[in-house]
Amino acid sequence: MSITLNSPLDMHLHLRDEEMLKTVAPLSSQSFSGAIVMPNLVPPVTTKEELINYKNRIKNVIGDDTFTPYMTLFFKPTYSKEFLESIRDELTAIKLYPAGITTNSEGGLSGFDVEELRPTLEAMSELEIPLCVHGETNGFVMDREAEFVSIYEMLATNFPKLKIIMEHITTKESVEALDKFENLYATITLHHLMITLDDVAGGMLQPHLFCKPIAKRPEDREALRRVALNAHPKVMFGSDSAPHPQDAKESCGCAAGVFTAPLALQVLTELFLEHSTIEKLQAFVSDNARNIYTHIVVPNKIVTLEREEFTVPKKYGKVVPIYAGETLKYTISKIEG
Ligand SMILES: [Zn+2]
Repeated sequence: MSITLNSPLDMHLHLRDEEMLKTVAPLSSQSFSGAIVMPNLVPPVTTKEELINYKNRIKNVIGDDTFTPYMTLFFKPTYSKEFLESIRDELTAIKLYPAGITTNSEGGLSGFDVEELRPTLEAMSELEIPLCVHGETNGFVMDREAEFVSIYEMLATNFPKLKIIMEHITTKESVEALDKFENLYATITLHHLMITLDDVAGGMLQPHLFCKPIAKRPEDREALRRVALNAHPKVMFGSDSAPHPQDAKESCGCAAGVFTAPLALQVLTELFLEHSTIEKLQAFVSDNARNIYTHIVVPNKIVTLEREEFTVPKKYGKVVPIYAGETLKYTISKIEG
Protein backbone atom coordinates (compact mmCIF):
# COMPACT_ATOMS: atom_id res chain seq x y z
CA MET A 1 0.00 0.00 0.00
CA SER A 2 1.32 3.46 -0.78
CA ILE A 3 0.53 6.71 0.98
CA THR A 4 0.51 10.01 -0.86
CA LEU A 5 0.98 13.39 0.81
CA ASN A 6 0.40 16.67 -0.97
CA SER A 7 2.81 19.46 -0.13
CA PRO A 8 3.85 18.51 3.39
CA LEU A 9 4.77 21.46 5.60
CA ASP A 10 6.93 21.69 8.68
CA MET A 11 5.60 24.61 10.70
CA HIS A 12 8.52 24.83 13.16
CA LEU A 13 12.04 24.12 11.98
CA HIS A 14 15.59 25.04 13.02
CA LEU A 15 18.00 25.22 10.11
CA ARG A 16 20.91 26.95 11.91
CA ASP A 17 23.63 28.55 9.75
CA GLU A 18 26.90 27.93 7.89
CA GLU A 19 28.09 24.28 7.83
CA MET A 20 25.10 23.02 9.79
CA LEU A 21 22.70 24.80 7.44
CA LYS A 22 24.40 23.07 4.49
CA THR A 23 23.95 19.70 6.16
CA VAL A 24 20.36 19.98 7.35
CA ALA A 25 18.47 22.31 4.97
CA PRO A 26 18.51 19.87 2.03
CA LEU A 27 17.17 17.13 4.33
CA SER A 28 14.01 19.20 4.79
CA SER A 29 13.76 20.77 1.35
CA GLN A 30 13.79 17.36 -0.28
CA SER A 31 10.56 16.06 1.21
CA PHE A 32 8.75 19.15 2.50
CA SER A 33 7.18 21.94 0.43
CA GLY A 34 8.01 24.58 2.97
CA ALA A 35 8.83 25.27 6.59
CA ILE A 36 8.57 28.00 9.17
CA VAL A 37 12.23 28.75 9.84
CA MET A 38 13.07 29.78 13.38
CA PRO A 39 15.15 32.95 13.92
CA ASN A 40 17.33 31.92 16.88
CA LEU A 41 20.68 32.30 15.18
CA VAL A 42 23.62 33.94 16.96
CA PRO A 43 22.79 36.83 16.95
CA PRO A 44 19.05 36.30 16.39
CA VAL A 45 17.28 37.56 13.26
CA THR A 46 15.82 40.98 14.15
CA THR A 47 16.19 43.17 11.04
CA LYS A 48 14.91 43.07 7.49
CA GLU A 49 18.42 42.80 6.14
CA GLU A 50 19.29 39.84 8.37
CA LEU A 51 16.05 38.11 7.46
CA ILE A 52 16.56 38.50 3.72
CA ASN A 53 20.20 37.45 3.95
CA TYR A 54 19.26 34.35 5.94
CA LYS A 55 16.56 33.47 3.43
CA ASN A 56 19.12 33.77 0.63
CA ARG A 57 21.63 31.60 2.49
CA ILE A 58 18.92 28.94 2.83
CA LYS A 59 18.01 29.18 -0.85
CA ASN A 60 21.66 28.84 -1.81
CA VAL A 61 22.05 25.49 -0.06
CA ILE A 62 18.82 23.82 -1.21
CA GLY A 63 19.58 24.02 -4.92
CA ASP A 64 16.60 23.29 -7.17
CA ASP A 65 14.37 21.75 -4.53
CA THR A 66 10.78 22.95 -4.52
CA PHE A 67 10.75 24.43 -1.04
CA THR A 68 9.73 27.75 0.49
CA PRO A 69 11.43 28.90 3.68
CA TYR A 70 8.80 30.92 5.57
CA MET A 71 10.85 33.45 7.46
CA THR A 72 10.43 34.67 11.02
CA LEU A 73 11.82 37.43 13.21
CA PHE A 74 12.93 37.08 16.82
CA PHE A 75 10.30 38.98 18.83
CA LYS A 76 11.26 42.33 20.36
CA PRO A 77 8.67 44.52 22.09
CA THR A 78 10.27 47.48 20.32
CA TYR A 79 9.16 46.57 16.77
CA SER A 80 7.10 49.49 15.45
CA LYS A 81 4.18 49.28 13.07
CA GLU A 82 6.21 51.11 10.40
CA PHE A 83 8.99 48.55 10.71
CA LEU A 84 6.56 45.64 10.53
CA GLU A 85 4.84 47.14 7.49
CA SER A 86 8.19 47.50 5.77
CA ILE A 87 9.00 43.82 6.31
CA ARG A 88 5.48 42.37 5.95
CA ASP A 89 6.06 40.84 2.51
CA GLU A 90 9.18 38.98 3.59
CA LEU A 91 7.83 37.80 6.89
CA THR A 92 5.50 34.92 7.80
CA ALA A 93 5.52 35.07 11.61
CA ILE A 94 7.35 36.39 14.67
CA LYS A 95 8.73 34.03 17.28
CA LEU A 96 8.66 34.97 20.93
CA TYR A 97 11.13 33.37 23.33
CA PRO A 98 11.13 33.96 27.06
CA ALA A 99 14.73 34.95 27.96
CA GLY A 100 17.18 32.07 28.32
CA ILE A 101 14.59 29.29 28.00
CA THR A 102 16.20 27.32 25.15
CA THR A 103 19.03 27.35 22.56
CA ASN A 104 20.14 30.91 21.69
CA SER A 105 17.25 32.63 23.47
CA GLU A 106 19.32 34.84 25.80
CA GLY A 107 17.96 38.01 24.17
CA GLY A 108 14.36 36.93 24.67
CA LEU A 109 11.58 38.55 26.62
CA SER A 110 12.03 38.83 30.38
CA GLY A 111 8.48 39.81 31.35
CA PHE A 112 4.93 39.76 30.04
CA ASP A 113 3.64 43.25 30.72
CA VAL A 114 0.58 43.71 28.50
CA GLU A 115 1.03 47.45 28.09
CA GLU A 116 4.67 47.07 27.16
CA LEU A 117 3.74 44.47 24.53
CA ARG A 118 0.62 46.23 23.27
CA PRO A 119 2.01 48.45 20.48
CA THR A 120 3.87 45.61 18.76
CA LEU A 121 1.18 42.97 19.27
CA GLU A 122 -1.57 45.31 18.04
CA ALA A 123 0.47 46.14 14.97
CA MET A 124 0.93 42.42 14.36
CA SER A 125 -2.82 41.86 14.75
CA GLU A 126 -3.59 44.57 12.21
CA LEU A 127 -1.01 43.31 9.76
CA GLU A 128 -2.13 39.69 10.33
CA ILE A 129 1.30 38.49 11.41
CA PRO A 130 0.98 35.40 13.63
CA LEU A 131 2.88 35.26 16.93
CA CYS A 132 4.69 31.96 17.54
CA VAL A 133 5.48 31.38 21.19
CA HIS A 134 7.90 29.13 23.03
CA GLY A 135 5.61 28.81 26.04
CA GLU A 136 7.61 27.97 29.13
CA THR A 137 8.10 29.83 32.41
CA ASN A 138 11.33 29.56 34.39
CA GLY A 139 9.63 27.31 36.96
CA PHE A 140 10.24 23.63 37.69
CA VAL A 141 11.11 21.93 34.41
CA MET A 142 8.10 19.58 34.29
CA ASP A 143 5.66 22.42 35.12
CA ARG A 144 6.99 25.20 32.91
CA GLU A 145 4.57 24.72 30.05
CA ALA A 146 1.48 24.21 32.22
CA GLU A 147 2.41 27.37 34.15
CA PHE A 148 2.70 29.28 30.90
CA VAL A 149 -0.93 28.56 29.93
CA SER A 150 -2.02 31.58 32.00
CA ILE A 151 0.25 33.78 29.88
CA TYR A 152 -1.29 32.31 26.71
CA GLU A 153 -4.70 33.16 28.13
CA MET A 154 -3.59 36.71 28.93
CA LEU A 155 -2.25 37.17 25.40
CA ALA A 156 -5.29 35.54 23.77
CA THR A 157 -7.80 37.73 25.64
CA ASN A 158 -5.88 41.00 25.31
CA PHE A 159 -5.15 40.52 21.61
CA PRO A 160 -8.20 38.69 20.27
CA LYS A 161 -7.32 39.34 16.61
CA LEU A 162 -3.76 38.06 16.97
CA LYS A 163 -3.17 34.48 15.86
CA ILE A 164 -1.10 32.91 18.62
CA ILE A 165 0.66 29.64 17.93
CA MET A 166 1.59 27.64 21.01
CA GLU A 167 4.73 26.06 19.67
CA HIS A 168 5.71 22.42 20.25
CA ILE A 169 3.07 21.75 22.91
CA THR A 170 3.83 18.86 25.25
CA THR A 171 1.08 18.85 27.88
CA LYS A 172 -2.60 18.12 28.32
CA GLU A 173 -3.02 21.63 29.74
CA SER A 174 -1.97 23.18 26.42
CA VAL A 175 -4.27 20.83 24.53
CA GLU A 176 -7.16 21.99 26.73
CA ALA A 177 -6.29 25.67 26.12
CA LEU A 178 -6.73 25.14 22.36
CA ASP A 179 -10.50 24.93 22.59
CA LYS A 180 -10.87 27.71 25.12
CA PHE A 181 -9.66 30.57 22.94
CA GLU A 182 -10.51 31.07 19.31
CA ASN A 183 -7.13 32.63 18.50
CA LEU A 184 -4.90 29.92 20.03
CA TYR A 185 -3.35 27.32 17.73
CA ALA A 186 -0.54 24.83 18.22
CA THR A 187 2.26 22.92 16.58
CA ILE A 188 3.11 19.41 17.70
CA THR A 189 6.45 17.70 17.09
CA LEU A 190 7.14 14.15 16.03
CA HIS A 191 9.17 13.34 19.11
CA HIS A 192 6.51 14.53 21.56
CA LEU A 193 4.04 12.20 19.85
CA MET A 194 6.48 9.32 20.18
CA ILE A 195 8.34 9.62 23.49
CA THR A 196 7.76 10.39 27.16
CA LEU A 197 10.29 11.41 29.81
CA ASP A 198 10.83 7.70 30.41
CA ASP A 199 12.45 7.37 26.99
CA VAL A 200 14.82 10.24 27.83
CA ALA A 201 15.76 9.51 31.43
CA GLY A 202 13.91 6.37 32.60
CA GLY A 203 16.90 4.16 31.86
CA MET A 204 20.34 5.24 30.75
CA LEU A 205 20.23 8.90 29.78
CA GLN A 206 19.46 9.40 26.08
CA PRO A 207 21.00 12.73 25.10
CA HIS A 208 19.64 12.64 21.55
CA LEU A 209 16.09 12.68 22.94
CA PHE A 210 16.77 15.59 25.31
CA CYS A 211 14.89 18.70 24.22
CA LYS A 212 13.03 21.75 25.49
CA PRO A 213 10.23 21.58 26.33
CA ILE A 214 11.23 18.28 27.90
CA ALA A 215 9.10 15.22 27.03
CA LYS A 216 6.38 14.73 29.65
CA ARG A 217 4.08 12.05 31.06
CA PRO A 218 2.17 9.30 29.22
CA GLU A 219 -1.14 11.14 29.74
CA ASP A 220 0.34 14.25 28.12
CA ARG A 221 1.47 12.23 25.12
CA GLU A 222 -2.04 10.74 24.93
CA ALA A 223 -3.58 14.22 24.85
CA LEU A 224 -1.20 15.25 22.05
CA ARG A 225 -1.94 12.08 20.10
CA ARG A 226 -5.66 12.61 20.45
CA VAL A 227 -5.57 15.99 18.68
CA ALA A 228 -2.78 15.15 16.22
CA LEU A 229 -4.18 11.80 15.07
CA ASN A 230 -7.59 13.39 14.57
CA ALA A 231 -6.03 16.41 12.86
CA HIS A 232 -7.84 18.84 15.16
CA PRO A 233 -8.14 21.90 12.88
CA LYS A 234 -6.09 24.07 15.25
CA VAL A 235 -3.02 21.84 15.33
CA MET A 236 -0.29 21.46 12.74
CA PHE A 237 2.85 19.46 12.41
CA GLY A 238 5.97 21.38 13.38
CA SER A 239 8.98 19.14 13.82
CA ASP A 240 11.06 21.51 15.96
CA SER A 241 13.85 19.48 14.39
CA ALA A 242 16.88 21.03 16.07
CA PRO A 243 20.29 19.74 15.05
CA HIS A 244 23.37 19.92 17.24
CA PRO A 245 26.76 18.35 16.50
CA GLN A 246 27.22 14.97 18.19
CA ASP A 247 29.82 16.35 20.62
CA ALA A 248 27.38 19.04 21.85
CA LYS A 249 24.82 16.32 22.67
CA GLU A 250 27.12 13.63 24.06
CA SER A 251 28.79 15.90 26.58
CA CYS A 252 28.53 17.39 30.02
CA GLY A 253 25.94 20.11 29.44
CA CYS A 254 23.97 18.37 26.68
CA ALA A 255 22.35 20.82 24.23
CA ALA A 256 18.54 20.65 23.91
CA GLY A 257 17.07 19.49 20.62
CA VAL A 258 16.06 16.36 18.70
CA PHE A 259 16.92 15.98 15.03
CA THR A 260 13.92 14.48 13.24
CA ALA A 261 13.41 16.28 9.93
CA PRO A 262 14.56 13.56 7.50
CA LEU A 263 12.46 10.86 9.21
CA ALA A 264 9.37 12.74 10.21
CA LEU A 265 7.07 11.78 7.35
CA GLN A 266 8.04 8.11 7.53
CA VAL A 267 7.44 7.86 11.27
CA LEU A 268 4.20 9.88 11.13
CA THR A 269 2.91 7.57 8.39
CA GLU A 270 3.60 4.53 10.56
CA LEU A 271 2.00 6.18 13.61
CA PHE A 272 -1.17 7.26 11.77
CA LEU A 273 -1.53 3.86 10.08
CA GLU A 274 -1.09 2.09 13.39
CA HIS A 275 -3.96 4.14 14.82
CA SER A 276 -6.14 3.75 11.71
CA THR A 277 -6.23 7.50 11.13
CA ILE A 278 -4.07 7.69 8.03
CA GLU A 279 -6.77 9.72 6.24
CA LYS A 280 -6.06 12.52 8.78
CA LEU A 281 -2.33 12.76 8.08
CA GLN A 282 -2.76 15.11 5.10
CA ALA A 283 -4.56 17.65 7.28
CA PHE A 284 -2.03 17.33 10.08
CA VAL A 285 1.02 17.79 7.85
CA SER A 286 -0.34 20.36 5.42
CA ASP A 287 -4.01 21.38 5.15
CA ASN A 288 -4.44 22.68 8.69
CA ALA A 289 -1.34 24.82 8.36
CA ARG A 290 -2.65 26.36 5.14
CA ASN A 291 -5.92 27.20 6.87
CA ILE A 292 -4.18 28.77 9.85
CA TYR A 293 -1.41 30.62 7.99
CA THR A 294 -3.74 32.05 5.39
CA HIS A 295 -1.05 34.18 3.73
CA ILE A 296 1.43 31.47 2.79
CA VAL A 297 1.85 30.31 -0.77
CA VAL A 298 2.60 26.59 -0.83
CA PRO A 299 4.49 25.04 -3.73
CA ASN A 300 3.16 21.75 -5.11
CA LYS A 301 4.99 18.61 -4.19
CA ILE A 302 3.71 15.06 -4.02
CA VAL A 303 5.48 12.70 -1.65
CA THR A 304 4.78 8.98 -1.86
CA LEU A 305 5.63 6.57 0.92
CA GLU A 306 5.72 2.78 0.63
CA ARG A 307 5.78 -0.09 3.07
CA GLU A 308 9.45 -0.87 2.76
CA GLU A 309 12.04 -1.07 5.49
CA PHE A 310 14.40 1.86 5.85
CA THR A 311 17.40 1.88 8.14
CA VAL A 312 18.01 5.31 9.63
CA PRO A 313 21.59 6.53 9.07
CA LYS A 314 23.72 6.67 12.23
CA LYS A 315 24.55 10.26 11.38
CA TYR A 316 23.75 13.03 8.94
CA GLY A 317 27.01 14.96 8.83
CA LYS A 318 27.85 15.52 12.50
CA VAL A 319 24.26 15.12 13.67
CA VAL A 320 22.80 11.97 15.22
CA PRO A 321 19.10 11.69 14.29
CA ILE A 322 16.24 10.20 16.27
CA TYR A 323 16.08 6.41 15.71
CA ALA A 324 19.73 6.37 14.51
CA GLY A 325 20.61 2.89 13.24
CA GLU A 326 17.06 1.61 13.75
CA THR A 327 14.77 0.27 11.04
CA LEU A 328 11.57 2.10 10.13
CA LYS A 329 8.67 0.40 8.34
CA TYR A 330 8.00 3.09 5.73
CA THR A 331 10.23 4.77 3.22
CA ILE A 332 9.80 7.72 0.86
CA SER A 333 9.66 6.11 -2.58
CA LYS A 334 8.87 9.08 -4.79
CA ILE A 335 8.94 12.88 -4.67
CA GLU A 336 7.34 14.81 -7.54
CA GLY A 337 7.48 18.57 -7.83
ZN1 LIG B 1 12.10 25.31 18.33
